[in-house]
Amino acid sequence: MRVTFHGGFGEKGRTSLGLASAGTSIILDVGINTSDGTAAAPGPAYYPAIAPEALAAADAVVVSHAHEDHIGALGWCLANGFRGRFVMTAETRAEMEECLSAYAEPEHRLLARSAAITIAEPGETLRVGPLTIRSGRSGHTVGGLWLHVEDGRRSVAYSADVVPASPVLAMDPIPHADLLAIDASYADDDVPPAERVAAIAAWTTARKRALMPTPLSGKPLEILMAVPGPVAIHASMRRPLLDQIAQAGWLRAGAGEALAARIAAAPDWHDGDAWPTACLLAHDGMGMGGPSRDLIARADAEGVPILLTGHLPTGSPAQLLHARGRADWIRLPTHPVLSENVALAQAVRPGILIGHSCDGRALAAMAAKMPPSFRPVRTGETLDL
Ligand SMILES: [Zn+2]
Repeated sequence: MRVTFHGGFGEKGRTSLGLASAGTSIILDVGINTSDGTAAAPGPAYYPAIAPEALAAADAVVVSHAHEDHIGALGWCLANGFRGRFVMTAETRAEMEECLSAYAEPEHRLLARSAAITIAEPGETLRVGPLTIRSGRSGHTVGGLWLHVEDGRRSVAYSADVVPASPVLAMDPIPHADLLAIDASYADDDVPPAERVAAIAAWTTARKRALMPTPLSGKPLEILMAVPGPVAIHASMRRPLLDQIAQAGWLRAGAGEALAARIAAAPDWHDGDAWPTACLLAHDGMGMGGPSRDLIARADAEGVPILLTGHLPTGSPAQLLHARGRADWIRLPTHPVLSENVALAQAVRPGILIGHSCDGRALAAMAAKMPPSFRPVRTGETLDL
């Protein structure tokens, strides 16, 4: 099996992995790269480095979840010669348009509306030519999957974004694979998630009002469980949040009831309203799309404390605020820390271990602490298994 690293290796964003065997080829994820938050218009580095002939030859694109760094280039694929089918869960399909409206070029967004999409369920087995594709719940978003592909001889597991110990979302074990691509978003960070959650609880408890930018999918559920005090929700988030918790099969036991109570107790907040005496959740997490784009500026102007909890692309509104000390940052883990990735590798026992979603320096820092099978592969490289 030939593995091609189209994006997200030695960089954060545009995550994409090509797999080919005996004349059949598939692509796992087609993300966009937000790491240049200053770019006015998307350039080539915004999209995965997939050659047009490889796109035209691909039989399927399997999408792990609806975050922009995994699905944002879906319409771009269609504009650049892809004629196969997309595969994703119903939940990812439901969130796709919201994501593309913030991150896809308008003509790509239009093309995405006519995309051929096959709906998959976690645990289901799909066949594309000689390739058998299995999946399981990733614990990262409702509808989020890890993927496992084999051609009868060799196997590849792609964790996509994964949360081994979410208090909210369930993760299924990944089976053995010859190559495992782990979610290296946090590189060698090994602060226990519970410590981060306690720090966020303390930060919010010490403030009467605050703005917490968040992605629309996955993380707000973690925030609702982490923040002990009153929370308000940007009105546009209520329906997506209720949709996410309605899918009980993705949640840990008891989490659905607890989240329903938290959401019911949180008032809606509309643009133009006075600041609530609460922690206000608004998407996205970087101030690059959604209501948080304007809200971050308003909170800054009005002296409202801002807490960031996720990835801060260079030049993004969130990163700029943080750089000048106007926003605090405490990581709310929605990716594995180092020891969780070590445990994952021990369970999957790959001959080759690689990491996606972090830059080259982070990969090098990680390599010193991971099993010897770890290889710091980069976007553009290929590997024959
Ligand atoms: Zn994600």
